[in-house]
Amino acid sequence: MKQTHDTPQSDPSPVYPAYWSTDELVEKWIDLLHSILNEEKSCIPVKRAQRQVERESLYQEIILRWPNMDPDERLAGWKNLIGLSESAIRNVLPACVACGECCRQGSPTLHVEDLELLQEGKIPWKELYTLRKGEPVRSPFQEELLLLSEERIKIREKSGSTECFFYNNVSERCMIYAHRPLQCRAQACWDPKPATELTKTPYLTRTEIFNGVDLLLHLIEEHDRRCSFERLHGAFERLRETRGNSVEEVLQLLSYEDHFRSFLGKQLNIPEENERLVFGRSFSEMVPIFGFKVIVGTDGTRCLVPEQNEPE
Ligand code: SF4
Ligand code: SF4
Repeated sequence: MKQTHDTPQSDPSPVYPAYWSTDELVEKWIDLLHSILNEEKSCIPVKRAQRQVERESLYQEIILRWPNMDPDERLAGWKNLIGLSESAIRNVLPACVACGECCRQGSPTLHVEDLELLQEGKIPWKELYTLRKGEPVRSPFQEELLLLSEERIKIREKSGSTECFFYNNVSERCMIYAHRPLQCRAQACWDPKPATELTKTPYLTRTEIFNGVDLLLHLIEEHDRRCSFERLHGAFERLRETRGNSVEEVLQLLSYEDHFRSFLGKQLNIPEENERLVFGRSFSEMVPIFGFKVIVGTDGTRCLVPEQNEPE
Protein backbone atom coordinates (compact mmCIF):
# COMPACT_ATOMS: atom_id res chain seq x y z
CA MET A 1 0.00 0.00 0.00
CA LYS A 2 1.30 3.47 -0.87
CA GLN A 3 2.19 5.86 1.91
CA THR A 4 0.04 8.98 2.26
CA HIS A 5 2.17 12.11 2.34
CA ASP A 6 -0.46 14.62 3.37
CA THR A 7 0.63 14.36 7.01
CA PRO A 8 4.33 13.51 7.10
CA GLN A 9 5.47 11.91 10.33
CA SER A 10 9.21 12.59 10.24
CA ASP A 11 11.84 14.96 8.86
CA PRO A 12 9.43 17.25 7.03
CA SER A 13 11.06 19.67 4.65
CA PRO A 14 8.86 22.69 4.00
CA VAL A 15 10.40 23.31 0.60
CA TYR A 16 10.28 19.84 -0.83
CA PRO A 17 7.08 18.92 -2.72
CA ALA A 18 7.11 15.38 -1.32
CA TYR A 19 6.03 16.75 2.05
CA TRP A 20 3.34 19.16 0.94
CA SER A 21 -0.29 18.49 1.71
CA THR A 22 -2.75 19.10 -1.13
CA ASP A 23 -3.60 22.51 0.37
CA GLU A 24 0.09 23.42 0.54
CA LEU A 25 0.54 22.25 -3.05
CA VAL A 26 -2.25 24.58 -4.22
CA GLU A 27 -0.81 27.44 -2.14
CA LYS A 28 2.71 26.95 -3.61
CA TRP A 29 1.23 26.64 -7.08
CA ILE A 30 -0.59 29.98 -6.76
CA ASP A 31 2.70 31.58 -5.58
CA LEU A 32 4.31 30.04 -8.63
CA LEU A 33 1.65 31.55 -10.93
CA HIS A 34 2.31 34.98 -9.39
CA SER A 35 6.03 34.71 -10.04
CA ILE A 36 5.62 33.46 -13.64
CA LEU A 37 3.16 36.30 -14.35
CA ASN A 38 5.68 38.79 -12.92
CA GLU A 39 8.55 37.34 -14.90
CA GLU A 40 6.52 37.40 -18.10
CA LYS A 41 5.23 40.91 -17.28
CA SER A 42 1.80 39.54 -18.10
CA CYS A 43 -1.26 41.63 -17.32
CA ILE A 44 -3.69 38.70 -17.03
CA PRO A 45 -5.04 38.19 -13.49
CA VAL A 46 -3.67 35.27 -11.50
CA LYS A 47 -7.20 33.96 -11.06
CA ARG A 48 -7.56 33.66 -14.81
CA ALA A 49 -4.27 31.74 -15.18
CA GLN A 50 -5.39 29.53 -12.31
CA ARG A 51 -8.75 28.80 -13.95
CA GLN A 52 -7.07 27.96 -17.29
CA VAL A 53 -4.71 25.42 -15.68
CA GLU A 54 -7.49 23.92 -13.54
CA ARG A 55 -9.29 22.92 -16.74
CA GLU A 56 -6.40 20.68 -17.80
CA SER A 57 -6.93 16.96 -17.18
CA LEU A 58 -3.27 16.64 -16.10
CA TYR A 59 -3.85 19.25 -13.36
CA GLN A 60 -6.99 17.46 -12.19
CA GLU A 61 -5.15 14.13 -12.09
CA ILE A 62 -2.24 15.60 -10.08
CA ILE A 63 -4.60 17.12 -7.49
CA LEU A 64 -6.70 13.97 -7.24
CA ARG A 65 -3.78 11.60 -6.87
CA TRP A 66 -1.50 13.86 -4.77
CA PRO A 67 -2.42 12.45 -1.33
CA ASN A 68 -1.45 8.94 -2.45
CA MET A 69 1.62 9.76 -4.54
CA ASP A 70 5.07 8.64 -3.42
CA PRO A 71 7.87 11.29 -3.22
CA ASP A 72 9.14 10.66 -6.75
CA GLU A 73 5.63 10.90 -8.19
CA ARG A 74 5.05 14.15 -6.29
CA LEU A 75 8.25 15.64 -7.62
CA ALA A 76 7.23 14.66 -11.16
CA GLY A 77 3.72 16.02 -10.50
CA TRP A 78 5.11 19.36 -9.31
CA LYS A 79 7.35 19.61 -12.40
CA ASN A 80 4.32 18.93 -14.59
CA LEU A 81 2.43 21.65 -12.78
CA ILE A 82 5.27 24.11 -13.43
CA GLY A 83 5.19 23.18 -17.13
CA LEU A 84 1.40 23.51 -17.33
CA SER A 85 1.50 26.92 -15.60
CA GLU A 86 4.27 28.31 -17.81
CA SER A 87 2.46 27.12 -20.90
CA ALA A 88 -0.91 28.57 -19.79
CA ILE A 89 0.67 31.98 -19.13
CA ARG A 90 2.81 32.07 -22.27
CA ASN A 91 -0.01 30.81 -24.50
CA VAL A 92 -3.07 32.50 -23.02
CA LEU A 93 -6.28 31.21 -24.60
CA PRO A 94 -7.93 34.08 -26.48
CA ALA A 95 -11.19 33.43 -24.62
CA CYS A 96 -12.83 34.33 -21.36
CA VAL A 97 -12.59 31.37 -18.99
CA ALA A 98 -15.11 32.99 -16.61
CA CYS A 99 -12.67 33.34 -13.72
CA GLY A 100 -14.84 36.17 -12.36
CA GLU A 101 -11.95 38.57 -11.80
CA CYS A 102 -13.53 41.29 -13.98
CA CYS A 103 -16.75 41.00 -11.95
CA ARG A 104 -14.88 41.17 -8.63
CA GLN A 105 -12.86 44.23 -9.66
CA GLY A 106 -15.87 46.39 -10.50
CA SER A 107 -19.28 46.69 -12.06
CA PRO A 108 -19.82 47.68 -15.70
CA THR A 109 -20.45 51.14 -17.06
CA LEU A 110 -23.39 51.12 -19.46
CA HIS A 111 -23.51 52.18 -23.10
CA VAL A 112 -26.45 53.45 -25.16
CA GLU A 113 -26.63 49.98 -26.70
CA ASP A 114 -27.53 48.58 -23.24
CA LEU A 115 -30.70 50.68 -23.01
CA GLU A 116 -32.78 47.91 -24.59
CA LEU A 117 -31.76 45.50 -21.81
CA LEU A 118 -33.03 48.02 -19.27
CA GLN A 119 -36.25 48.74 -21.12
CA GLU A 120 -36.96 45.01 -21.44
CA GLY A 121 -36.44 44.58 -17.70
CA LYS A 122 -33.43 42.28 -18.11
CA ILE A 123 -31.47 44.55 -15.77
CA PRO A 124 -33.64 46.18 -13.06
CA TRP A 125 -33.48 49.99 -12.81
CA LYS A 126 -33.00 49.81 -9.06
CA GLU A 127 -29.60 48.16 -9.47
CA LEU A 128 -28.25 51.16 -11.39
CA TYR A 129 -26.75 54.42 -10.26
CA THR A 130 -25.46 57.56 -11.86
CA LEU A 131 -21.98 59.00 -11.56
CA ARG A 132 -22.38 62.71 -12.22
CA LYS A 133 -20.03 65.00 -14.12
CA GLY A 134 -17.20 66.17 -11.87
CA GLU A 135 -17.78 63.32 -9.40
CA PRO A 136 -14.61 62.00 -7.75
CA VAL A 137 -14.13 58.30 -8.45
CA ARG A 138 -11.45 55.80 -7.52
CA SER A 139 -9.66 54.08 -10.37
CA PRO A 140 -8.36 50.54 -9.79
CA PHE A 141 -5.21 51.62 -11.64
CA GLN A 142 -4.11 54.67 -9.64
CA GLU A 143 -4.08 56.02 -6.10
CA GLU A 144 -5.41 59.53 -6.75
CA LEU A 145 -9.06 60.33 -7.25
CA LEU A 146 -10.25 60.97 -10.79
CA LEU A 147 -12.83 63.62 -11.59
CA LEU A 148 -15.32 62.38 -14.17
CA SER A 149 -15.45 64.58 -17.23
CA GLU A 150 -18.84 63.14 -18.29
CA GLU A 151 -21.80 61.45 -16.70
CA ARG A 152 -21.85 57.63 -16.51
CA ILE A 153 -24.48 55.04 -15.59
CA LYS A 154 -23.28 51.97 -13.75
CA ILE A 155 -24.59 48.73 -12.30
CA ARG A 156 -24.15 49.00 -8.56
CA GLU A 157 -21.47 47.21 -6.59
CA LYS A 158 -22.16 45.15 -3.48
CA SER A 159 -22.05 47.19 -0.30
CA GLY A 160 -18.49 47.84 0.92
CA SER A 161 -16.95 46.02 -2.02
CA THR A 162 -15.90 46.52 -5.63
CA GLU A 163 -17.77 43.34 -6.67
CA CYS A 164 -20.57 43.70 -9.21
CA PHE A 165 -24.03 43.27 -7.68
CA PHE A 166 -24.86 40.53 -10.18
CA TYR A 167 -21.82 38.38 -9.43
CA ASN A 168 -22.73 35.30 -7.42
CA ASN A 169 -19.52 34.50 -5.57
CA VAL A 170 -20.76 31.07 -4.46
CA SER A 171 -21.51 29.71 -7.93
CA GLU A 172 -18.88 32.13 -9.35
CA ARG A 173 -21.36 33.03 -12.08
CA CYS A 174 -23.02 36.15 -13.45
CA MET A 175 -26.71 36.16 -12.51
CA ILE A 176 -27.63 37.98 -15.73
CA TYR A 177 -25.08 36.31 -18.01
CA ALA A 178 -27.41 35.98 -21.04
CA HIS A 179 -28.30 39.66 -20.71
CA ARG A 180 -25.01 41.11 -19.51
CA PRO A 181 -24.11 44.61 -20.72
CA LEU A 182 -21.84 45.45 -23.62
CA GLN A 183 -18.78 46.10 -21.44
CA CYS A 184 -19.03 42.63 -19.93
CA ARG A 185 -19.35 41.04 -23.36
CA ALA A 186 -16.19 42.88 -24.45
CA GLN A 187 -14.10 41.78 -21.47
CA ALA A 188 -10.84 40.30 -22.73
CA CYS A 189 -8.00 40.20 -20.20
CA TRP A 190 -5.66 38.79 -22.86
CA ASP A 191 -6.20 41.69 -25.27
CA PRO A 192 -6.74 45.37 -24.32
CA LYS A 193 -8.06 46.28 -27.81
CA PRO A 194 -11.81 45.53 -27.33
CA ALA A 195 -11.90 47.63 -24.14
CA THR A 196 -10.12 50.50 -25.90
CA GLU A 197 -12.49 50.25 -28.87
CA LEU A 198 -15.47 50.25 -26.52
CA THR A 199 -14.54 53.69 -25.14
CA LYS A 200 -15.44 55.05 -28.61
CA THR A 201 -19.01 53.69 -28.29
CA PRO A 202 -21.47 56.22 -26.82
CA TYR A 203 -22.05 55.91 -23.10
CA LEU A 204 -25.54 55.82 -21.66
CA THR A 205 -26.69 58.88 -19.70
CA ARG A 206 -29.90 59.94 -17.96
CA THR A 207 -30.80 61.93 -21.08
CA GLU A 208 -31.42 58.68 -23.01
CA ILE A 209 -32.98 56.88 -20.05
CA PHE A 210 -35.54 59.60 -19.29
CA ASN A 211 -36.00 60.71 -22.88
CA GLY A 212 -39.44 62.32 -23.20
CA VAL A 213 -39.88 62.94 -19.46
CA ASP A 214 -39.08 66.62 -19.82
CA LEU A 215 -40.00 67.74 -16.30
CA LEU A 216 -37.71 65.14 -14.74
CA LEU A 217 -34.87 65.98 -17.10
CA HIS A 218 -35.28 69.65 -16.24
CA LEU A 219 -35.13 68.90 -12.51
CA ILE A 220 -32.10 66.66 -12.98
CA GLU A 221 -30.41 69.54 -14.78
CA GLU A 222 -31.37 71.89 -11.96
CA HIS A 223 -29.98 69.49 -9.37
CA ASP A 224 -26.72 69.21 -11.34
CA ARG A 225 -26.47 73.00 -11.52
CA ARG A 226 -27.30 73.81 -7.90
CA CYS A 227 -25.55 70.81 -6.38
CA SER A 228 -22.56 70.42 -8.66
CA PHE A 229 -19.48 68.52 -7.58
CA GLU A 230 -17.54 71.66 -8.39
CA ARG A 231 -19.35 73.35 -5.48
CA LEU A 232 -18.67 70.44 -3.15
CA HIS A 233 -14.99 70.41 -4.10
CA GLY A 234 -14.80 74.17 -3.56
CA ALA A 235 -16.38 73.87 -0.12
CA PHE A 236 -13.93 71.15 0.97
CA GLU A 237 -11.03 73.12 -0.48
CA ARG A 238 -12.02 76.16 1.62
CA LEU A 239 -12.44 73.91 4.65
CA ARG A 240 -8.82 72.88 4.23
CA GLU A 241 -7.60 76.43 3.64
CA THR A 242 -9.46 77.82 6.67
CA ARG A 243 -8.39 74.84 8.83
CA GLY A 244 -11.97 73.92 9.55
CA ASN A 245 -13.46 77.39 10.07
CA SER A 246 -15.74 77.12 7.04
CA VAL A 247 -17.33 73.87 8.19
CA GLU A 248 -20.80 75.47 8.10
CA GLU A 249 -20.52 75.95 4.34
CA VAL A 250 -19.96 72.22 3.84
CA LEU A 251 -22.75 71.23 6.23
CA GLN A 252 -25.19 73.62 4.56
CA LEU A 253 -24.34 72.24 1.14
CA LEU A 254 -24.88 68.66 2.37
CA SER A 255 -28.24 69.59 3.90
CA TYR A 256 -29.30 71.48 0.81
CA GLU A 257 -28.51 68.56 -1.48
CA ASP A 258 -30.25 66.08 0.85
CA HIS A 259 -33.30 68.32 0.98
CA PHE A 260 -33.35 68.88 -2.79
CA ARG A 261 -33.34 65.17 -3.62
CA SER A 262 -35.77 64.06 -0.90
CA PHE A 263 -38.22 66.91 -1.61
CA LEU A 264 -38.26 66.20 -5.36
CA GLY A 265 -38.31 62.47 -4.75
CA LYS A 266 -41.54 62.87 -2.74
CA GLN A 267 -43.10 65.37 -5.15
CA LEU A 268 -42.44 63.17 -8.17
CA ASN A 269 -43.10 59.84 -6.42
CA ILE A 270 -39.62 58.58 -7.20
CA PRO A 271 -39.11 55.30 -5.31
CA GLU A 272 -36.18 55.54 -2.89
CA GLU A 273 -34.51 52.58 -4.64
CA ASN A 274 -34.31 54.63 -7.87
CA GLU A 275 -33.01 57.83 -6.29
CA ARG A 276 -29.33 57.02 -6.97
CA LEU A 277 -30.14 56.62 -10.66
CA VAL A 278 -32.20 59.81 -10.90
CA PHE A 279 -29.99 62.13 -8.80
CA GLY A 280 -26.75 60.16 -8.49
CA ARG A 281 -24.96 59.50 -5.25
CA SER A 282 -25.79 61.98 -2.50
CA PHE A 283 -23.25 64.50 -1.25
CA SER A 284 -23.57 62.92 2.21
CA GLU A 285 -22.60 59.56 0.75
CA MET A 286 -19.55 61.14 -0.89
CA VAL A 287 -18.14 62.80 2.25
CA PRO A 288 -15.77 59.89 3.12
CA ILE A 289 -14.02 60.30 -0.22
CA PHE A 290 -12.92 63.76 1.05
CA GLY A 291 -11.62 62.16 4.27
CA PHE A 292 -14.58 63.15 6.49
CA LYS A 293 -17.62 61.58 8.08
CA VAL A 294 -20.98 63.08 9.07
CA ILE A 295 -22.10 62.31 12.61
CA VAL A 296 -25.77 62.93 13.39
CA GLY A 297 -26.45 63.87 17.02
CA THR A 298 -29.50 62.70 19.02
CA ASP A 299 -31.15 66.09 18.37
CA GLY A 300 -30.65 65.68 14.61
CA THR A 301 -27.78 68.18 14.33
CA ARG A 302 -25.01 67.18 12.00
CA CYS A 303 -21.32 67.42 12.62
CA LEU A 304 -18.43 66.88 10.23
CA VAL A 305 -15.41 65.02 11.59
CA PRO A 306 -12.21 63.83 9.94
CA GLU A 307 -12.56 60.06 9.45
CA GLN A 308 -9.50 59.22 11.58
CA ASN A 309 -10.81 61.37 14.51
CA GLU A 310 -14.20 59.79 14.77
CA PRO A 311 -15.41 59.96 18.41
CA GLU A 312 -15.92 56.63 20.19
S1 SF4 B 1 -11.99 38.34 -19.21
FE1 SF4 B 1 -12.22 38.68 -17.01
S2 SF4 B 1 -13.59 37.06 -16.29
FE2 SF4 B 1 -12.83 36.47 -18.34
S3 SF4 B 1 -11.03 35.22 -17.93
FE3 SF4 B 1 -10.31 37.30 -18.21
S4 SF4 B 1 -10.21 38.16 -16.13
FE4 SF4 B 1 -11.48 36.32 -16.05
S1 SF4 C 1 -23.01 42.02 -15.06
FE1 SF4 C 1 -22.34 39.90 -14.89
S2 SF4 C 1 -20.58 39.72 -16.27
FE2 SF4 C 1 -20.94 41.89 -15.91
S3 SF4 C 1 -19.57 42.44 -14.20
FE3 SF4 C 1 -21.60 41.94 -13.36
S4 SF4 C 1 -21.48 39.78 -12.83
FE4 SF4 C 1 -19.80 40.21 -14.23
